[in-house]
Amino acid sequence: MVKIEAICGCMWSGKSEEIARRLKPAKFARKTILVALPVIDDREERNLGQILKNPLWLSNYKNLHIKKVDSFEQLKELMSDIDPDILVMDEIHMFGSWPVDFINELRFLEKYRKQSLRIIISGLDMDFQGKPFETMSLIMGMAHDVRKLSDAICKKCEERTAVMTYKKPKNNIVNQDRIQVGGEKDYEPRCWECYMLGEN
Ligand SMILES: [Zn+2]
Repeated sequence: MVKIEAICGCMWSGKSEEIARRLKPAKFARKTILVALPVIDDREERNLGQILKNPLWLSNYKNLHIKKVDSFEQLKELMSDIDPDILVMDEIHMFGSWPVDFINELRFLEKYRKQSLRIIISGLDMDFQGKPFETMSLIMGMAHDVRKLSDAICKKCEERTAVMTYKKPKNNIVNQDRIQVGGEKDYEPRCWECYMLGEN
């Protein structure tokens, strides 16, 4: 059967580390892992691929395949070439909406009546305006296990748990793009109270 695990939270909530932690035992069980990363994510230094290659986690593991993917067809081809025991999709909100259909289709494949497939999906739960990301929300609906992480501490009060991804203004203007790949220069984790304060 296909078993789906969803991991979500704001930026810096520890999603990538949680995936790495879940994948480590798979190395000892010699499972084949396919990690699909969105093409638009160009943050090479802090993407999941780099984290997994750390000696702490899955460095030099030959059954780990990390691929940049940008379409349903491409991932379908990779699934049939690699035939993984575990499929991971990180930063799911950056793929667009097709992963929902893709994962739904996998659930009903005849092949997985006999074989098992574990799917681990991770991504932001909400955009910078606090609006839930549709792709993640729908996958959470299909998932067997849903985990909202809260490892980040609010950058403003440095006290409460962060639940929001706050987008910083540049020259007093906030870029309104819902998907804008960025790091600490562009975003910060904030608790709800500090999120509502904005720049005040
Ligand atoms: Zn705060």
